[in-house]
Amino acid sequence: MSPIRLAIVGLGKIARDQHLPAIARTTGIVLAAVADPHAPPAELEGLAHFSTLDDLLAGAPEIDAVSLCTPPQVRRATAAAALAAGKHVLMEKPPGATVSEIGPLLAAAQASGRTLFATWHSRFAPAVEPARDFLTTHAPRAVTVTWKEDVRVWHPGQAWIFEPGGLGVFDPGINALSILTRILPHPFFLNHATLAFPENRDAPIAATLDFSDVKGIPIRAEFDFLQTGPQTWDIAVETGGGRLVLSSGGARLMLDERVLVDEKEAEYAAIYRNFVDLVGRGAPDVDLAPLVHVADAFMLGRRTVAAPFEG
Ligand code: NAP
Repeated sequence: MSPIRLAIVGLGKIARDQHLPAIARTTGIVLAAVADPHAPPAELEGLAHFSTLDDLLAGAPEIDAVSLCTPPQVRRATAAAALAAGKHVLMEKPPGATVSEIGPLLAAAQASGRTLFATWHSRFAPAVEPARDFLTTHAPRAVTVTWKEDVRVWHPGQAWIFEPGGLGVFDPGINALSILTRILPHPFFLNHATLAFPENRDAPIAATLDFSDVKGIPIRAEFDFLQTGPQTWDIAVETGGGRLVLSSGGARLMLDERVLVDEKEAEYAAIYRNFVDLVGRGAPDVDLAPLVHVADAFMLGRRTVAAPFEG
């Protein structure tokens, strides 16, 4: 089979840091074009470049698939246009700015026999599947999520993240929720939440969330976007078989003092291998559970006002 000719839409931080090298390493897919309002970087000289997706769809009709790496606020419109043009679609997380916009995209993909892949990159971290396997035989008793990073370091100048639909601290926090919804053996739901909004912004900069699962186990999550010093992306699960800790966003797994997994993250290579497989099988991969939990937090959470954020 000839390789999938892919276009990246939105050539920002994550596309340059992760998507470009992962595509280059993946058999069965080749980067053929880019759509982004900014001039292309020197290393992509010679590659077809368009300012908008519409220009790309008109000017590069041979493209088979698009990888949507824009901010989430334009995800629905770009995905709908690409599907209408008969392209397979890979979406960066979060899959949209609302929950309800995804259903029609999935229906359109299925009607035209195209793949819609809503990626959750943290689910491809090396510790996630071993943690899930462990928790199928060792029931969790309590879960603590600590997801604390410095927005000024990881998202410099990204105004969209504090605009409506940008999710604020839930932009990284949804990664923790994508892991939890994969590894925990039972569904869970929100009981209480507090969301701190900077007085000059439309999205929260910190949040605490108290969930429980259908068996009654407590799940506590703390998200902070102003963490200085060590950055923390940890999930600790107390079980009858010991304390399981996923750290570094799922790159490392420990059971009590024993290291079970410690690998350099290879999340995006796994994402593109999965996309090639999905396109080959004509299958979709869309799970909205992490986004539903974020929507619940905005619906049930108590709002507090924090100091203005000047990022
Ligand atoms: P970013 O650095 O702001 O890059 C987004 C790029 O998309 C910018 O060049 C932007 O141009 C362009 N763009 C915006 N609207 C467009 C449109 N309609 N058509 C074509 N290009 C458009 O953002 P990012 O950090 O890469 O994040 C992008 C997505 O990846 C987000 O959903 C984020 O949650 C996810 N993600 C980010 C990271 C990370 O560490 N940064 C990690 C994993 C996932 P303008 O600047 O002119 O708007």
